[in-house]
Amino acid sequence: MTETTYPNSYYVASAQPAPNRPSLSEHIETDVCVIGAGYTGLSTALFLAEAGYRVVVLEAIKVGFGASGRNGGQIVNSYSRDLDTVEQSTTTQAAQLIGAMAFEGSQIIRERVSRYQIDCNLHNGGIFAAFTPKQMRHLAQQKTLWQRYGYQQLELLDHQELQKYVGSTRYIGGMLDHMGGHIHPLNLALGEASAFESLGGTIYEQTPALRIDRTPQPIVYTPQGQVRCKFLVIAGNAYLDTGLAPELAAKSMPCGSQVITTEPLSPELARSLLPQNHCVEDCNYLLDYYRLSADRRLIYGGGVTYGARDPGDIQNIIRPKMLKTFPQLAQVKIDYAWTGNFLLTLSRLPQVGRLTDNIYYAQGCSGHGVTYTHLAGKILAEAIQGQAERFDAFASLPHYPFPGGHYLRTPLTALGALYYSLRDRIGF
Ligand SMILES: Cc1cc2nc3c(=O)[nH]c(=O)nc-3n(C[C@H](O)[C@H](O)[C@H](O)COP(=O)(O)OP(=O)(O)OC[C@H]3O[C@@H](n4cnc5c(N)ncnc54)[C@H](O)[C@@H]3O)c2cc1C
Repeated sequence: MTETTYPNSYYVASAQPAPNRPSLSEHIETDVCVIGAGYTGLSTALFLAEAGYRVVVLEAIKVGFGASGRNGGQIVNSYSRDLDTVEQSTTTQAAQLIGAMAFEGSQIIRERVSRYQIDCNLHNGGIFAAFTPKQMRHLAQQKTLWQRYGYQQLELLDHQELQKYVGSTRYIGGMLDHMGGHIHPLNLALGEASAFESLGGTIYEQTPALRIDRTPQPIVYTPQGQVRCKFLVIAGNAYLDTGLAPELAAKSMPCGSQVITTEPLSPELARSLLPQNHCVEDCNYLLDYYRLSADRRLIYGGGVTYGARDPGDIQNIIRPKMLKTFPQLAQVKIDYAWTGNFLLTLSRLPQVGRLTDNIYYAQGCSGHGVTYTHLAGKILAEAIQGQAERFDAFASLPHYPFPGGHYLRTPLTALGALYYSLRDRIGF
């Protein structure tokens, strides 16, 4: 990692005040050491601190520096691949367990926000917007599938009904998830960090984990200190250096997604785009996602750079997408543009497991991670406390390396994505 602080994003500009936390400069011992202060690490740390464990979080840069402080802020239920893929990938029993957890992540967020009074502009309601009849059929199937797992919060919308939520003529219909929604993502991470600290937890910033001794009590080495722990959790996701745990890097690929934010819009213009202030993601393979901020800016994301290479001029990539959806924004100024990395797996299902008896990891939620990472923290915390049934269900999902090895996996995956996005364009 070459960066030392946050990107110049709207979220940083509108973040709640947060302390500069010290870096680790001594040798310490603790029950649990967590690497990474994104949602996965913070959620794990908070659950364990609530259960009375001594927990130390090591963060290479700042709390929420990674995807958790840069994302679209969309609370999307279930997983990056839906429950039918889960059912085809593992045993019936494990699939049932994973399905039963598919809506828990968003409940965890709401519970955290309420219990710790986290000021992160939580707003309920998310829309999936469809361009084609095929995508509408898929949404109908998704509704039936989620209902099978007890979720009754979905409502299909025809073109006319969708207009109540999205002021764009691009879509033929969509689906409303009443328990979807959106948050200010960095403020959620900062609020969870201070909740964890209020329970006695410690976070060291500017403290990259450089090396791990996989001894019975693992030792994590940082530039000026060491942590010896009974349990270690690796939660560095797309920002984890490949050398720290090479077996995790082998089955995943960092990818970038880009986001722009307009200047504040007039109340009338903002209302004409998203009359109910819901967030929207479209149904394409390479999808666009957008929503309003609390101060009425449009936050619009899309685009994927495979291998997390520098995307170049972000405004030039994302603004045309925004104008395709909302041509009425042609004269509106863009105030912020940034990129962030998420971790893709070949199956697009998340990876959870152990490297040794007491070194755990969770990573790779492949683009839909705001809710899942909160659930991942809970199941990691359960496993550390000796209740591994739900952890084992996720750990049973099979994962494979990307074809092409280290050098060819990026172009091959980009080619695969191009194929799917062409299918979207021709409605196939
Ligand atoms: C631009 C963008 C938009 C997105 N939009 C959405 C959305 O709207 N809805 C949704 O559901 N999902 C979205 N996602 C995905 C979601 O943000 C991620 O899945 C989720 O935030 C991942 O959380 P995490 O804690 O696993 O990883 P991260 O948030 O990336 O955190 C990992 C942390 O580990 C730290 N770290 C790494 N290596 C080390 C080390 N060696 N030592 C110490 N610390 C280390 C990093 O600095 C970082 O802070 C988006 C992702 C991106 C990039």
